[in-house]
Amino acid sequence: MTRRSTAEEMGFPSRASIVEVGPRDGLQSEPNFVPTEKKVALVNGLIDAGIRHLEVTSFVSPRAVPQMRDASQVLSGINRTKGAVLAALVPNARGAERAVEAGIDAMVVFMSASESHNHKNVNRSREESLAGFGEVCRIADASGTAVFGAIATAFGCPFEGDVPVENVVGIARRYRDMGITTVSLGDTTGMATPPRVRERCRALRAAVPDIDIALHFHNTRGVGLVCVYAGLLEGVTRYESSIGGLGGCPFAPKATGNICTEDLVYMLDECGVETGVDLGKLIAVAQRTEATIGRTLPGQLMKAGPRLELHAMDAVATANG
Ligand code: ZN
Repeated sequence: MTRRSTAEEMGFPSRASIVEVGPRDGLQSEPNFVPTEKKVALVNGLIDAGIRHLEVTSFVSPRAVPQMRDASQVLSGINRTKGAVLAALVPNARGAERAVEAGIDAMVVFMSASESHNHKNVNRSREESLAGFGEVCRIADASGTAVFGAIATAFGCPFEGDVPVENVVGIARRYRDMGITTVSLGDTTGMATPPRVRERCRALRAAVPDIDIALHFHNTRGVGLVCVYAGLLEGVTRYESSIGGLGGCPFAPKATGNICTEDLVYMLDECGVETGVDLGKLIAVAQRTEATIGRTLPGQLMKAGPRLELHAMDAVATANG
């Protein structure tokens, strides 16, 4: 009889993919422009650590998000030899054309599950967003580029509160009808909780079984990794996170960073879920990112180290408690 793996014991899948979104979701909310060569170094460091899925930039209007104005230059500096899939956010046909020209592997179209956040984020209705994606998909198809679909405010909206699960299912269905088979549920402002994760994953699986679900959490209320745990129990194998816990959403009030990539990889490692990522290298990238950004990032493992990284006894003061 073969022994059950730790992942099996936990009721988790044996493998999970990490989608690093720090260079896009993380950096887009940084007020100071991060030089192109630093962005390239960040992405190359992540690829070197074993990350194989990255959102590297965004082909949005440089006026709306000045941090992403160097999207094409960033792409041309990235190490393409290791087979990492480079994705970029694309809001419309113009962005799609720029993305193809720059040699992107996958485009991410995005819209909100709630009407008011969609207006605030992209200044159009949800139906107008969906109508525009048809053209993006045609441009992607013609160039052999993959398209992923993202649903923001999938677990709650900062303006409307709870978002009906039917909104999320309805958008996923429309994505699937456009030929999009990977759909990411975005917890834009950190409103996800474990029961909501379970509810939404189950509703999607039942209504649109032919899509792959990705989960995108922010740690705004401290339950980001617990939501991953809930996702793992539902068999979800694709998680979006950002190095050091960089991030936020410039159009959502008080949104804080994404769940932290190295903290996530640590948890998955400890649960026996394989990611193919080298944790030591990832921590080094997180520390370099902190130096680049010039402030302390929320990631915890980069400060404490893995649990079995031991300390010399005389290097630590002992206090009661
Ligand atoms: Zn996000």
